Amino acid sequence: MPEPLKKELCRLAAGLKEFVNYQRRSGLQLLEGGYPVSIVKPAAAVAASPEPTAAMSLEEIREEMGDCRRCKLWQSRTRLVFGSGNPKARLMFIGEAPGAEEDKQGEPFVGEAGQLLNNLLHKLDLNRQEIFISNVIKSRPPGNRTPMADEIAACRPFLIQQIEAIRPQIIVTLGGVATHALLETKTPISRLRGKWQQWQGIAVMPTFHPSYLLRFPQERKKTWEDMQQVMAIYKGKGSENSE
Ligand code: SF4
Repeated sequence: MPEPLKKELCRLAAGLKEFVNYQRRSGLQLLEGGYPVSIVKPAAAVAASPEPTAAMSLEEIREEMGDCRRCKLWQSRTRLVFGSGNPKARLMFIGEAPGAEEDKQGEPFVGEAGQLLNNLLHKLDLNRQEIFISNVIKSRPPGNRTPMADEIAACRPFLIQQIEAIRPQIIVTLGGVATHALLETKTPISRLRGKWQQWQGIAVMPTFHPSYLLRFPQERKKTWEDMQQVMAIYKGKGSENSE
């Protein structure tokens, strides 16, 4: 078999495996052959999604993504939003997906929710150059709808590659979608926020998404408290085992 074809088949198999595993973990029943009930053509949805590896740099990951069409969201995006910040960041923020402004500019968290995040970072004496900010999904879902399971499964391997490339000390997941996608749990964000979690040896602090805080400003105090725990570790004054 020609080498390029062999390579492509391996990539297809890795993407399909990730997709099926994600569906299993999400509790969906599988039909004979392993295909989820709710998805018509999973292989097309996740075609050529990469298998997470630790070896790639951020530049290599971006190159690998190219003009990504591994899920249907490529059709509705203007720009792919890869993420930005310090490639050696000790602190990484993960959101859900780009919104309208992010889609226009190609940068994460530059809309209204981004302004709120900037305010929070400023109050914490953090700047965007020292941290890294990304999303689970790199292309904007139409109308800012919640990403679908097949889209998360297709894009998640890129997020994993980014984390492996950066190897931050702490990850802050912003909102339920990011928290569930990373930790592979269905526990509501309201129960997870403010409690340290672990992913592959990295401390993870789930908290609310800035978009949620725009709608429910009374909840901002909770995110502030969550970030105090994060900053205690980041500045070397606490332990992620303390609750
Ligand atoms: S959301 Fe992710 S997997 Fe889907 S097209 Fe965009 S970059 Fe590719």
